[in-house]
Amino acid sequence: MNLPIVQLEKLQKSFGPFNALNDIDLGIRKGEILTLLGPSGCGKTTLMRIIAGFEAPTSGRLLISGKDATDLPPERRSVNMVFQRYALFPHLDVFDNVAFGLRLQKLAKEEVRRKVEAMLGLVQLEQYASRWITELSGGQCQRVALARALVNRPDVLLLDEPLAALDLKIRHHMLRELKRIHEETGTTFVYVTHDQDEAMILSDRVVLLNKGEIEQVGSPQDLYAAPTSLFCARFFGETNIFEGLVNSVSGETAVISTPHFAAKGPSRGARQGDTVSLSIRPEAMKISPALGGDDAVNAYNRIDGNVEEAVFIGNRIVYRVRSNGTLLSCQETRPVTGVQHVPGSPVRLAWPSEAVVVLTQ
Ligand code: ATP
Repeated sequence: MNLPIVQLEKLQKSFGPFNALNDIDLGIRKGEILTLLGPSGCGKTTLMRIIAGFEAPTSGRLLISGKDATDLPPERRSVNMVFQRYALFPHLDVFDNVAFGLRLQKLAKEEVRRKVEAMLGLVQLEQYASRWITELSGGQCQRVALARALVNRPDVLLLDEPLAALDLKIRHHMLRELKRIHEETGTTFVYVTHDQDEAMILSDRVVLLNKGEIEQVGSPQDLYAAPTSLFCARFFGETNIFEGLVNSVSGETAVISTPHFAAKGPSRGARQGDTVSLSIRPEAMKISPALGGDDAVNAYNRIDGNVEEAVFIGNRIVYRVRSNGTLLSCQETRPVTGVQHVPGSPVRLAWPSEAVVVLTQ
């Protein structure tokens, strides 16, 4: 088994009486892109700063490459950080910004030149070596910041919301660039974001944080398809949530009653009599005209309502359906032939039992 490159053991961090991080146990694998995701204030940046050495944990241990690094100063960790606001030197040109750390190490001039040129090649800024920082776009500044952070070949690169200051189009382009740079360097990336799309596009694994604690760790697919908590189901992708009571469990299948329909799906450990939440993703809900009447045969996993909004988004149609006072979301991604159900239409939403995610907490 490969030793994690960074191991966090029972890490805890308080600011006065406030507990910012609690009981964090996490192994970061060599070469992976691990994303710390969670709402504002959940402790992402604090965790990152502890890994970088800018902040000391109140208790617990941090190991880097198997060695206790809890008290090691930042400059003695093979870890570098890229910030949201680049933190570049405006009075230096691109080349000198990237060369800065190498010159501090007193490397030979020729070696500095070789390393900086290789890094500028990696971030595709060879032509910009003598430009001033003030003459660059936001995306180009972030590339310089990346080159500067990678030039020392750190084992771990920490990226704290590095794309947050960029506009959407450049952000998507930079995400692809980050993936390419990750592949070319093989460096372990720890990436902080509160944007679930970024986390989904970029990550090998996602650590979802909630109020200073780890809520769930897994691949983006794990978190999306098999959330283990209501918080995760809600935070990672859009979903429809219903409250219900488990009527019976037979084998691995639970029958659940909710105020307006009955559901059948994988029990995921729920037991008869449990109060549960159900999560059903919008794309699992198939929309069709409501037939009216009570056709009670196989009357599981469906609910009737009225279309409140239908939005055509090219490759999909997003419907908002009002049902018993609740607004549900349904996405049609199959052959999209235009809006079939206009606002006001009575419709039925139905979904297969495997789309039902039963949440017991
Ligand atoms: P955001 O997405 O808004 O950047 P975050 O998840 O990165 O949030 P942190 O910056 O890690 O959150 O902060 C976690 C909690 O700790 C917050 O409630 C914050 O107010 C608190 N906190 C962070 N640094 C300090 C500090 N130096 N002193 C007191 N409280 C702090």
